[in-house]
Amino acid sequence: MKEIEALLKKFFGYTSFRPLQADIIKRILDKKDSLVLMPTGGGKSICFQLPAIYLPGTAVVISPLIALMKDQVEGLLSNGIPAAALNSSMPDAERQRIKQLCMQGKVKLLYISPEGLMGEVDWLLPRMDISLIAIDEAHCISQWGHDFRPEYTQLAVLKERFPKVPIVALTATADKITRLDILNQLKLNDPQTFISSFDRPNLSLTVKRGFSKKEKIASIVHFINARKQQSGIVYCMKRSDTEELAEALNSYGIKAIAYHAGLAPARREKAQDDYINDRFDVVCATVAFGMGIDKSNVRWVIHYNMPGSIENYYQEIGRAGRDGLPSDTLLFYSLGDLVLLRRFVEESGQSDITSEKLERMKRYCETDVCRRRILLSYFGEEAEHDCGNCDVCKNPPQRFDGTILVQKALSAVVRTGERVGIQMLIDILRGSFRQEIRQHGYDQLKTYGAGRDLSYKEWKEYVYQMLQLGYAEVDYAAGRTLKVTPLGSKVLYGELKAQLATWNEDENT
Ligand code: ADP
Ligand code: ZN
Repeated sequence: MKEIEALLKKFFGYTSFRPLQADIIKRILDKKDSLVLMPTGGGKSICFQLPAIYLPGTAVVISPLIALMKDQVEGLLSNGIPAAALNSSMPDAERQRIKQLCMQGKVKLLYISPEGLMGEVDWLLPRMDISLIAIDEAHCISQWGHDFRPEYTQLAVLKERFPKVPIVALTATADKITRLDILNQLKLNDPQTFISSFDRPNLSLTVKRGFSKKEKIASIVHFINARKQQSGIVYCMKRSDTEELAEALNSYGIKAIAYHAGLAPARREKAQDDYINDRFDVVCATVAFGMGIDKSNVRWVIHYNMPGSIENYYQEIGRAGRDGLPSDTLLFYSLGDLVLLRRFVEESGQSDITSEKLERMKRYCETDVCRRRILLSYFGEEAEHDCGNCDVCKNPPQRFDGTILVQKALSAVVRTGERVGIQMLIDILRGSFRQEIRQHGYDQLKTYGAGRDLSYKEWKEYVYQMLQLGYAEVDYAAGRTLKVTPLGSKVLYGELKAQLATWNEDENT
């Protein structure tokens, strides 16, 4: 590893590794497979670029976006590392030249799109000495992820065709179910999963509810004027909104530009370039904006509409504060957005998982629980303490000691062998006479009826708080059953007290 550290210094100018980087690199050098989960800006690229430089042969890097590839290759070349990209938009002669270089072993990293790769599985790849295969944005392989790309599913052949080549799959967002899906689909061999912390304490988190369009715009203008000459992004659901909003902001003297996938490529590129080079302070964009954009001084991100899932939301706010300095995020949540998103889910004919994800997003917006705890629990990280840097922490609701309540619920979960979902759990706690309860013998449990004193709605609220606090989690792969987390066990066995936010039916309907 001494040699690798020397290369880190030589090619990238860094003196030390970030957490996990060295372990991941070692794993690749040992020719073993891995899955890497690191937030955007965490430093994933070096994990495969360094072994690619060190090992003989050429590393094949699969990446979904041509623009992203171009940046990476240019960055590597400027550091003196021979890299190239193959894509369909290149002239034929150029493609041939690059293929020759790859076969001669003169390229250390070859970037290629999944479509391009499938065209070369039989021809180019067997003629190369492949050192490793890196699959970037690996969540694209899963329908349970937030950016499913059918081309990615074909990557399963890689392990079959090149069983000896180590594969490293990398992503910035993957909840548990997507994670398992990636491992299964890529047929990774005895993979090790590396998860670096998703915590971004420098991002403040705020949600505002029930604003009209006019109020939203006024609030955004106020927000931006308090942050003069700082870079920011406003994410909008609709293309037309990006243009309308940019225009409105301009009329207030704010230098804003619109960006969405419906613009001509040249205009899009220019907008991106103008924003990156600070010729505009604000970009009003759809989610088409941001993937692969490396701008470290984005100081704030606003969501004009609620995103469809916590993964999307986290990915998008993650574009702020990549330099680690304090940055602000603000989300506007309205029932109108929720209705629209629910309709999208219905029309897309997608699984209940999509609507469950939307439900979790909605609950995030409506919560009385520290928002960062919700995010971290969502990604499977343990968070025992409130963060102090979200609007809930700054203006805390009334709380009560809910330890016994949580214990009742979790103990029921355990006693059913973790085989029930939320609805069944509440029915058990409330001593319902549902037939299935008797069929499974749940009416014989000690906790049957132990929560009769609360209404169904109250229980539902508290169970969701338990999920948000990370005491329990939903196992989507096992029919959306509830599981107790290690943190939940601490509450169950009296090692940790649980504070719940008081919920009042009248105020919340
Ligand atoms: P990701 O692909 O995870 O979004 P990158 O690989 O682009 O992140 O890295 C983000 C930034 O962190 C880059 O500017 C990169 O050069 C820098 N970086 C990566 N590893 C280190 C390190 N060990 N020390 C210092 N900076 C690093
Ligand atoms: Zn908080």
